[in-house]
Amino acid sequence: MTETLTNRSLIELDRDHLIHPVASFRGHEAHGARVLASADGMWLTDIDGKRVIDAFAGLWCVNVGYGQESIVEAAADQMRRLPYATGYFHFASEPAIRLAAELTALTPEGLDHVFFTLGGSDAVDSAVRYIIHYFNAIGKPEKKEFIALEWGYHGSSSTGAGLTALGNFHRGFDLPYKWQHHIPSPYPYRHPQGDDDAAVIASTVAALEAKVAEIGADKVAAFCCEPIQGSGGVIVPPKGWLKALREACTRLGILMLVDEVITGFGRTGPLFACEEEGVTPDFMTTAKGLTSGYAPMGAMFMANHIYETIADASPLPVGHGMTYSGHPVSAAVALEVLRLYREGGVLANGVKTGARFAERMEAIRSHPLVGDVRYRGMLGAIELVTDKATKGMFPAELNLGDRLSQMTWDNGLIVRCFANAVIGFAPALTCTVEEMDIIFDRVQLTLDQLL
Ligand code: PMP
Repeated sequence: MTETLTNRSLIELDRDHLIHPVASFRGHEAHGARVLASADGMWLTDIDGKRVIDAFAGLWCVNVGYGQESIVEAAADQMRRLPYATGYFHFASEPAIRLAAELTALTPEGLDHVFFTLGGSDAVDSAVRYIIHYFNAIGKPEKKEFIALEWGYHGSSSTGAGLTALGNFHRGFDLPYKWQHHIPSPYPYRHPQGDDDAAVIASTVAALEAKVAEIGADKVAAFCCEPIQGSGGVIVPPKGWLKALREACTRLGILMLVDEVITGFGRTGPLFACEEEGVTPDFMTTAKGLTSGYAPMGAMFMANHIYETIADASPLPVGHGMTYSGHPVSAAVALEVLRLYREGGVLANGVKTGARFAERMEAIRSHPLVGDVRYRGMLGAIELVTDKATKGMFPAELNLGDRLSQMTWDNGLIVRCFANAVIGFAPALTCTVEEMDIIFDRVQLTLDQLL
C-alpha cells in the first residue's frame, strides 16, 4: 500500500481489518479506533494532532517514558550488527548473555537463571511447564495442580488465561483447566474484614491451606499470584501479604510463582515488588518494564535449586523454546532500559513523583463518587461507587468503563477504565510532579462531569 492514507481511511481500514478483541472486536465502533501517531515523554499525539497525557504508560509498560533516544540508538546499533540469533540450541548473542547476567544480579537472591520470552503470557507458560518438569525430575509427577487468585491475570495463552480469573478470558472454552484452581483475592475494599490487615492476610493463607487440603498436598504443584493484582483492578494487598504466602507455600510443600509482569521494574518503588517484602519466589515472571515497551520481551526466572534439579534430570525435559527467545535487539533495548532505571535516574524520579501521586490520590478520596483509593509506588486505582456507605457498584448496563474511557480521552487523558468502575493509573516513572498534577486535574474534571 503506497498511497498516503488519509486519517479517515486509516480508521476505516482499521475497522475492516484489525481485530480488537478486548475492545468491541471492531475497534471503537462509535468513534473509530484511536490511531496514535507519535509520542514524547508522557505525551501521545494521534493522527488528528490531538495531544493526550498518558497516565497508563501504554499498557503498564513504558516505564521510562516515550522518546528515549539512547534506546533507539541501542536498538539500531544491534540491528546493524546482529539483528537475530536464535535462542534455540546452543546459540546466544552478547546482549542476551549480558542481560541475563545483569538481571539475575538484580533479582532476589537465588534466582540466577533466566529464560527469555516474547512477553508475559509465554513467561507464565514457561514457568508452568518448568514447574511440571521439576516435579517429574524429583519423581513426583502427580504434583500437577496449580492454585491462583480470583481477579488475577496471567496472560492470554490458554495456560495463562486459565490461571487468570477474569470471566471473559474463560468464556467459550473449558477454562480454567481442571488442574487450575482459584481462591479468593485479598481485595481489602470488598473483604469483610478489609480494615484489618492481619485478617486479610490470614484469610488468603487459610484459603490456600484449605484448597491444598481439598486437592491433596501430594497433587499441588504451585501457587501463582501477582504481588498487586493489576488487570483485576489494581488490588493492593496489605504489606506482609506476599511474605505470609511465601511462608505458607514452603510449609505446604508447594512452589511459588510470583508474576511481576506489571509490578516489576520500579512500578511499585523497588525494582521488584518481591524485594520490598524480602520474598524469593521459586519462579518469577516479568515483561513490560523490562524493555519499557520499546521491543517485545519477557523473562522467566528460576530458582537455583530448581535449575540444578532439572539440568541434572535424565532424561532431559521435553523441548521448550521460541524463535524470538533472547532476541538480540530486544536484549539490547532491555540493557539500555536497565541503565536508564539506575544511572539515568528513572527509578529515583519514580519514587519522587510517586510521593506526589500519593498526595493526589489521597486528595481525591473525598470526591463523592470515589469509594476506594489504593496505590503503591506509581501503580494505583480509584474505585467509583454509587454510594460510599454501602459501596454500591454501578450496574453493568451503564457501561461506565467505556463511558469513562471516552470522557477521559475527550479530556486529553489516558487511564485504564475497568468495567467495574475502577480507574487505573500507571504513569511512566519519568513523569514530573507538574505532569502528575495535570493528570489529576483531568481526573477531577472527568469525575465532576460524571456527577
Ligand atoms: N501477567 C500479568 C500480571 C500481566 O499483567 C500480563 C499482561 N497484562 C501478562 C501476564 C501477560 O503479558 P503479555 O500481555 O505481555 O503476554
